[in-house]
Amino acid sequence: MSERYDIAIVGSGPAGITAAINAKIRNKRIIIFGYENLSNKLYLAPKINNYVGFPGISGKDLTEKFKDHLKEMDIEITYERVDSIYAMGDYYALMVNDKTYEATGIVLATGVSFGKPFKGESEFLGRGVGYCATCDAPLYKNKVVTIIGYNKESIEEANYVSELAAKVYYIPMFKGDVDLNSNIEVINDKPVEIIGDSHVNKLVLKNSEVETDGLFILRDNISPDQLVPGLLVEEGHIKVSRDMETNLKGCYAAGDAVGKPYQYLKSMGEGQVAALNAVSYLDKLSREK
Ligand code: FAD
Repeated sequence: MSERYDIAIVGSGPAGITAAINAKIRNKRIIIFGYENLSNKLYLAPKINNYVGFPGISGKDLTEKFKDHLKEMDIEITYERVDSIYAMGDYYALMVNDKTYEATGIVLATGVSFGKPFKGESEFLGRGVGYCATCDAPLYKNKVVTIIGYNKESIEEANYVSELAAKVYYIPMFKGDVDLNSNIEVINDKPVEIIGDSHVNKLVLKNSEVETDGLFILRDNISPDQLVPGLLVEEGHIKVSRDMETNLKGCYAAGDAVGKPYQYLKSMGEGQVAALNAVSYLDKLSREK
């Protein structure tokens, strides 16, 4: 059986790391999921003028300061993407590739994704379109799979799928090197529309098209209600109370994911409020036992 954490934090941007630091100070057993750069929205910011105490700091330098702080507090980020989270009654189950983690409380700090879904994406979701290639790869043994990858982590997923599928096409949606297995064909083109009948059979790109049995879209963010079934979302943002609690008991949210303005300090303040209220929730539960 997997060990149960007190609080699982999903997302390593300003909101998530602030939640992690505050929960750790309160002696809670935490796990935080995210990426090595913490957040591209932080890492790639050229110059930040409104971060109190560090006028004009670059996103890269601020990321290094955040990493030093995490290291100092012995907080290690688990470099994995959470694919889904299920409310199980008195705890949550977090699905990560082929693993399941358990936590009593959750802080969602997943940020927002600006990309619109592709034409046909919602229609074929679950009918050939998916968001976790490693989870569904066995369904595509000896078949053709196309992967639209928005980050470096998607390369790993593509390599894994290529060990099972007959053919893998990979469409990089980011700049930089792609270190893929030699049997993967890279297509540098812009996806436009997903086509099929009862199931996906084709991806139309701006200048070409590929016939495919499965299509995985591996973005940095999954929409929050897809990530957590039953979560209340309004106009694309997670609905929270003043305590940053969602409609699900013990599940809190913070940062861009809960609404505008999209700013570092607002996200961090909310991350702190979410963590402290998650801690109070846990303490109340243990008093009731
Ligand atoms: P994010 O920073 O988006 O972090 C969320 C993290 O969670 C990401 O790493 C994401 O990949 C990860 N994640 C998402 N889903 C999952 C999952 N399922 N499993 C694991 N990890 C997941 N704000 C300012 O105040 N001042 C500025 O000067 C400023 N400049 C900016 C410049 C640029 C170029 C950009 C793009 C934004 C700028 N912002 C600025 C806005 C600021 O970046 C955001 O408000 C802030 O990063 C939000 O923090 P967050 O923690 O809510 O989300």
